[in-house]
Amino acid sequence: MSEQAIVIGAGMVGVSVAWHLQQQGMQVTLIDRKQPGEETSYGNAGLIQREAVFPHAFPRDVKDIFKVIPNHNLDIRYRPAALWHFKHPLMQYWYYSDPKRFKTVVDEWSTLIAHCTETHDEMMQAAHAEHLVRKTGWLQLHRTTETYAKAIAEAELARSYGVQSRLVNMDEVREMEPDLNTSLFVGGIHWQNTWKVTNPGALVKAYAENFVAAGGEFKQCQMYNMQQENGEWQVNTDQGRLSAKHLVVATGPWSADVLKGLGYDYPLFPMRGYHKHYHIADGKVLNHSVLDYDCGYVIGPKAAGIRITTGAEFTFQNAPADERQLDDVEKKAREYLPLTTAVEDKAWIGHRPCMPDMKPVIGPAHKHSNLWFAFGHAHQGFTLGPATGKLLSQMMLGHATYVNPQPFAANRFEK
Ligand SMILES: Cc1cc2nc3c(=O)[nH]c(=O)nc-3n(C[C@H](O)[C@H](O)[C@H](O)COP(=O)(O)OP(=O)(O)OC[C@H]3O[C@@H](n4cnc5c(N)ncnc54)[C@H](O)[C@@H]3O)c2cc1C
Repeated sequence: MSEQAIVIGAGMVGVSVAWHLQQQGMQVTLIDRKQPGEETSYGNAGLIQREAVFPHAFPRDVKDIFKVIPNHNLDIRYRPAALWHFKHPLMQYWYYSDPKRFKTVVDEWSTLIAHCTETHDEMMQAAHAEHLVRKTGWLQLHRTTETYAKAIAEAELARSYGVQSRLVNMDEVREMEPDLNTSLFVGGIHWQNTWKVTNPGALVKAYAENFVAAGGEFKQCQMYNMQQENGEWQVNTDQGRLSAKHLVVATGPWSADVLKGLGYDYPLFPMRGYHKHYHIADGKVLNHSVLDYDCGYVIGPKAAGIRITTGAEFTFQNAPADERQLDDVEKKAREYLPLTTAVEDKAWIGHRPCMPDMKPVIGPAHKHSNLWFAFGHAHQGFTLGPATGKLLSQMMLGHATYVNPQPFAANRFEK
């Protein structure tokens, strides 16, 4: 009989792990308190980011840190109590962002990013979900020559990691985006081998449906706790007890809390983002996702309307919403796009699951047998779900791995 596994968390990461295990002949039960793809993996900017070879580092330049302190920046805001609470992970984040250490992080992280589109493609084809994807890249637009010059240098460096891009002037931007007022911008970069998803939650659901069609089981239930008894994992849920030889924790930003009961203390911290959809004036279009670089937010066409996703707010997961950052970037977007009314009254809130060394945790747990981790993908979990699923399933089945898993080891924060 084939081995059994329970995967907790049906976001992009957990669904991809479950899908790969099922393909390899395991008997998999995927659980989530919601339907698949209804949390962080629903509300993101929907970019499969082949260009994201440089993770988001902590600013090391004192000038940049001082700019954040007044708490008016458009790209990053914070609540002081959260800074204090997460001070240790933040200090580690600062440490790993030192240029020399960051170079190592980039070299390791980019090994996964390099496979993001091909691993999505495999699942997308199986799930017949290609209609949800546009393989036309996205646009990064700059309001200042200073930031544009820096970005051009970065784009050049990214080429050595396989990232395709071209510099675009405003005539070229107008050709791509005829209804965008380009007068505010000095230049742009078209990231060419990145993909855009028109409905991120629907893509996760399509992958989950394909997993079920292949014989996998999905159960909507809340996991309360888990323990290992006689070599079997027991998972207690509001729908009863489940058991299997293998257990995978893929609970995104909830993972540190979920694992506390088993004696793991991960320095995972949440980076909140908001989104809202807007209507655009009759007859006008936005074709590509656009990063308004100097204001630090992404705007892009989605099934529900034009979605604005904010940069980061450093706060607790359960803190009440503060939509001022979203309101401020909405004003910036209206400067160049004819947006009309908002689709929703209230903004969506989600949290990027961040690790201090900017890399996810993927692999076997170090204190228990047959316990496996897949979380901490920060700003790129939607991109890296399938690449993670492939890697973790190879490890669980004892196969040769397609990338070196060592940089993502579960015990790397162990003192
Ligand atoms: C504003 C914003 C924009 C972003 N844009 C992008 C982007 O363009 N591209 C990109 O690659 N990434 C982006 N990200 C990051 C990306 O969304 C996340 O990294 C990714 O969704 C994390 O996926 P996940 O499967 O780990 O977590 P999730 O999608 O959060 O899934 C975890 C699941 O675990 C379940 N769960 C937790 N605890 C329990 C429990 N006790 N019992 C049962 N179920 C439980 C939850 O219900 C949830 O469904 C963005 C994030 C934000 C916030």
